[in-house]
Amino acid sequence: MPNTKIPHATAKRLPIYYRYLHFLSDAGKKRVSSTELADAVKVDSATIRRDFSYFGALGKRGYGYDVNSLLSFFRKTLKQDKLTNVALIGVGNLGHALLNYNFHQSNNVRISAAFDINEDITGTIQSGVPIYHMNDMKEQLTVQQIKIVILTVPASVAQKVTNELVEVGIKGILNFTPMRITVPNTVRVQNVDLTNELQTLIYFLDKFGSHDTEA
Ligand code: ATP
Repeated sequence: MPNTKIPHATAKRLPIYYRYLHFLSDAGKKRVSSTELADAVKVDSATIRRDFSYFGALGKRGYGYDVNSLLSFFRKTLKQDKLTNVALIGVGNLGHALLNYNFHQSNNVRISAAFDINEDITGTIQSGVPIYHMNDMKEQLTVQQIKIVILTVPASVAQKVTNELVEVGIKGILNFTPMRITVPNTVRVQNVDLTNELQTLIYFLDKFGSHDTEA
């Protein structure tokens, strides 16, 4: 694979491609055209061709892309052949839902520990995941070698908890709080603001009807 830097927007589409290619492979399909893929994953075919060219995958005219070789490339890139344990911080309503969900569709990522300050739930196991007290966070994250966390604490403590996470050496934070947290540039944050997403959807529907809302 060429050593080009993959743009962020392309990287975000990788799991979508991966899931669909997986589906094709399970169905016994050997090849797929960018037009077919475009229809299925709702990304236009020019974007797909450009995305794939970053991975050094150039479709053959009249043949398309080889499903299995793309799949094995994506599997490696997405580290789908390795289990990643993540921790959840803050087991409120949203935290509970995520624990219960626990990414069952994926074999390669799971929440293996959760943390909270509420002593009614610490020391219990919820949806198969132990809930530790925040006092044990440092120790557990270190022992379990967890580098990625999902943050579902109240907004008011998001930055304080983030600072503690940075101190322990966390490398990635999936931030479900509406706070924009500050981290050193060695730590990556992905924000998932559900309220904001829903409001954006409502705004676009009000303004443009059913148009594509993708920025
Ligand atoms: P949600 O926002 O998930 O719907 P909620 O309304 O159920 O949450 P919040 O007050 O947002 O509850 O708190 C989410 C969870 O974060 C609670 O379980 C709470 O005990 C926990 N929490 C609060 N402060 C901290 C903290 N400093 N560290 C870790 N967990 C905390």
